[in-house]
Amino acid sequence: MDKKNTRPNIPEQIQRELWARAAGRCEFRGCNKLLYKDSLTQKRANLAVISHIVAYSSNGPRGDIVRSQQLEKDISNLMLTCRDHGKIIDDKEREIEYPEELLLEFKREHELRIRMLTEAKEDAQTYVLLLQVPIDKHPIRIDQAVAFRAILPKYPAEEMATVIDLNGMTIPTASAGFFQVAVQSITEQTRRYLHNRFDKMNIKNLAVFALAPVPLLIYFGYLLGDIDHVDLFQRHRDSQNWIWKDEAETEEGKKFYKIFSPETTFDSRRKIALLLSVSNLVKRSEVEATLGEEPLVYEIRAEEPGLDFFESRKRLEAFGYEVRKLLESLRVTYDHTCEIHLFAAVPSPAAIEFGRHIQAHHPLFLVYEYQKATRVHLPALQVNIHSREQI
Ligand SMILES: [Zn+2]
Repeated sequence: MDKKNTRPNIPEQIQRELWARAAGRCEFRGCNKLLYKDSLTQKRANLAVISHIVAYSSNGPRGDIVRSQQLEKDISNLMLTCRDHGKIIDDKEREIEYPEELLLEFKREHELRIRMLTEAKEDAQTYVLLLQVPIDKHPIRIDQAVAFRAILPKYPAEEMATVIDLNGMTIPTASAGFFQVAVQSITEQTRRYLHNRFDKMNIKNLAVFALAPVPLLIYFGYLLGDIDHVDLFQRHRDSQNWIWKDEAETEEGKKFYKIFSPETTFDSRRKIALLLSVSNLVKRSEVEATLGEEPLVYEIRAEEPGLDFFESRKRLEAFGYEVRKLLESLRVTYDHTCEIHLFAAVPSPAAIEFGRHIQAHHPLFLVYEYQKATRVHLPALQVNIHSREQI
């Protein structure tokens, strides 16, 4: 008799530990249902089942002639779930859909998250904010679990990331009203978010994951300017994740950017353009075509502009440094009344970083959006309108 079909009695102590590890919530991915009270009536109730990953019976789901018995009371093989998900796990017919490795992943993910949330000290905690704005009508989704992985060793300060989500916008990116509506929505959502968190809590860190048209990222960064500790993340195309790569030792002391300034610094009749060439080279001819003249050109250009240039935090920091220097020199050279036309081919964190450094005493920026299909820069939005209020 090697097959047994009666459910083993799980010792009290193991049950208690499992409840503690799961924090009384269903461990099935995406569920998280609270299992000690009824969510409708708020009455105390035990809604949990303890499910076996490797079934206690060798002919049950994921069962094994040897391991079933070995693992029948082993906490590493047990999941606390709601009844619905317990049923799914115990369903032999769905075994292929829910292999052992996947269920172990659900369990690990859930228990790690609980530990992170309860163990974390304030300074190791960070708020996690996601910004999703459709790009060329393509909806944008950023996976919260992937973001939580990228912030390690910091811990999320809240169980869920906050999402500023504009995917519901029905106006296409290229149409006239798009940026106006998006700016209004992002401003309101961001202000509300910051007000609720940073005025009241002790946590100072904010981790930002954003995918949106570049002008909105710059504007978004401008809204975040007052927060001291902002960690920006980048989605890397090769690894498909948001984890910054370690800097290669060969990058030590390397110069990442070239800076260009106009030969004459002041000519009030000419327009001023600032080009940011990081993920791509901003073509001067296209800028001239947009402005209808040859402007005074400033540029921060990556040594090798390209989509993969921005891979390490160090390159972001070096970019921030160049931006601060350049904004300061613009402030000294020009007064409030001037406008700067901004053309940026940059990855998301660089755009936000640029916006973060714009301050009220800097000039007004007219930000353009590049239309890849037509190779035209279209005016999108203005940043730092407050500079006007000081005049
Ligand atoms: Zn569940």
